[in-house]
Amino acid sequence: MTATDLIKFCDPARPHIAQPFTIGEYTYATNGRVAVRVPKIEEVPENPKAPKTIPRLVENAAAFNGETFPMPLLPPPDLETCKHCEGFGRFNTCPQCDGSGDVECNLGHYHKCELCDGDGIRADIGGTNQCEYCDGLGKVEKHTRINLGACSFSGVYLRPLAQLPGAIAICPNYTNPAAVTFDGGHAIIMPMR
Ligand SMILES: [Zn+2]
Ligand SMILES: [Zn+2]
Ligand SMILES: [Zn+2]
Repeated sequence: MTATDLIKFCDPARPHIAQPFTIGEYTYATNGRVAVRVPKIEEVPENPKAPKTIPRLVENAAAFNGETFPMPLLPPPDLETCKHCEGFGRFNTCPQCDGSGDVECNLGHYHKCELCDGDGIRADIGGTNQCEYCDGLGKVEKHTRINLGACSFSGVYLRPLAQLPGAIAICPNYTNPAAVTFDGGHAIIMPMR
């Protein structure tokens, strides 16, 4: 597992978890629903803003002894339009505010740019920046329910874990995160209500 392999478990929209981070002997990646832990990857730095609860959550899950479930073969993903890029897959700098997110009115104050809603970027099929949520495809996997023992998980979060070599899940109940072990690491995944 490399730092690049861990990126798919990060959340590009949240700066404190947009990249993998190292704490002590381990390197972690999380998107808030899934967290993955592997032995420390030297080039991944510590991040003082990273969530401090993750090591304990993964440690507890890794130590849990329960019924194990081999990862199921997931059905092909059901796709829907990516909300972040509206299906365009790419972004460009907003032409109205030049990327600043605000525009000056006749009276000299600054107001939120209405064209981009203050984001400074606009979905644009010919844009220069690829959407990080859909990797530029314009479509993302829909949340579908996958049952394992007493738990259900969204296929969106389970799929990348199910693809890890030797992945096996331990599901304590439907409220706590389930543990996933794989060749070379541990992970947790929050169940779907
Ligand atoms: Zn997108
Ligand atoms: Zn004004
Ligand atoms: Zn704008």
